[in-house]
Amino acid sequence: MQFTKLRLNGFKSFVDPTDLVIADGLTGVVGPNGCGKSNLLEALRWVMGENRPTAMRGAGMEDVIFGGAATRNARNFAEVSLTIDNADRLAPAGFNEEDQIDIIRRITRDAGSAYKLNGKDVRARDVSMLFADASTGAHSPALVRQGQISELINAKPKARRRVLEEAAGISGLYQRRHEAELK
Ligand code: ATP
Ligand code: MG
Repeated sequence: MQFTKLRLNGFKSFVDPTDLVIADGLTGVVGPNGCGKSNLLEALRWVMGENRPTAMRGAGMEDVIFGGAATRNARNFAEVSLTIDNADRLAPAGFNEEDQIDIIRRITRDAGSAYKLNGKDVRARDVSMLFADASTGAHSPALVRQGQISELINAKPKARRRVLEEAAGISGLYQRRHEAELK
């Protein structure tokens, strides 16, 4: 599985539709302070199901919607799409026959978030399960926020174990057990 494209539309400072093409090898994003580099990484985490406004540096989830600028009105929705190439057929069960996986998350003011997986309406849970089974997702240890390394060093053993479990790809199992126990 390989992330190949991230499209932002009305997400934070990306008011106009913007594509970030993720080619083979290393992709670097450079630019002056405040140009939106961190917003790109946040868009990636958000489309994978991030639900903590603080992780998006906001007070509420709707803060990810473009809030207006001197010459532009605020938008009513934000949308992020992620394209995943599955030529290697390594996607988790249910998706391993697909050549490509497209995930879209859209948030509309006063209406919350909606997700689509390959064109079909799905629940947030379906998206987070897809990524948990693929050992990635909004909480993936591969996405390193500013200050996260020192957080990890100072973390309690239990919290540190969760990071290792995420990396080992067993967090999807935990999520299913948790849901089974609630039933
Ligand atoms: P640095 O180099 O300082 O880390 P950066 O390139 O990572 O900067 P970001 O933090 O991604 O920059 O972008 C911050 C910009 O995004 C700010 O100008 C902020 O006003 C803008 N921004 C954040 N949320 C919104 C929003 N909802 N609507 C409009 N603009 C927003
Ligand atoms: Mg930044």
